[in-house]
Amino acid sequence: MPGILTLTFDDGYRHVYKKIVPLLDSMGMVGVFAIPLDTERVAASENMPVTPSQDWLSIVQQGHELAAHSISHANLRSLSPDQLADELARPAQELAATTLAYPGGGYNDSVVTAAMAIYQAGRTTDFGMETVPPRDAMRLKTVNYTNRNWSLFKANLRVLWAQLRGRWLIETYHVIDDTSEGTYAVPYTDFVKHLGFIKRVGISVRTIKSVIS
Ligand SMILES: [Zn+2]
Repeated sequence: MPGILTLTFDDGYRHVYKKIVPLLDSMGMVGVFAIPLDTERVAASENMPVTPSQDWLSIVQQGHELAAHSISHANLRSLSPDQLADELARPAQELAATTLAYPGGGYNDSVVTAAMAIYQAGRTTDFGMETVPPRDAMRLKTVNYTNRNWSLFKANLRVLWAQLRGRWLIETYHVIDDTSEGTYAVPYTDFVKHLGFIKRVGISVRTIKSVIS
């Protein structure tokens, strides 16, 4: 059985909207974009320009998926039941999201129980690769790339491994930029090379929604 690769991009950054979405389109690839509804709040707290959540809606037409990422990017473990219900429910309505990426990777059993009532899958930031089908769709593992752990060689090797072993590799990105020195930045030049490698390996690039359903 061949492997599956999912490319996920968190937080709705403007440079991802402007550069990465067209790049994926030009390569015939689809991505999963986890967008907090209150993008302005995220922009202010992280000092990074973001694209408003409504502007992302049109990319679904190219086969991309919009995943819920709460309203305020709050840690879902720290909320009251009412707040949790609201942070989970509104993205499903406003983005037509059917899968969720836990903001900051924060989840526990009660968050998962509440999320299961609305979403078919939840992506954590726990490190690992998934089987096909996954053992637990509400606790999907990922390889979360930052400038602390990024290596083009290792990223390529994991894709090759997933393809040869028939695994589902979910990659998570935040900032993709050659000039940014932020913790969550992966170099754009490397990312383009990585997509070229993915193309050559021929691994199936799919959204979380399509793998789960
Ligand atoms: Zn996030």
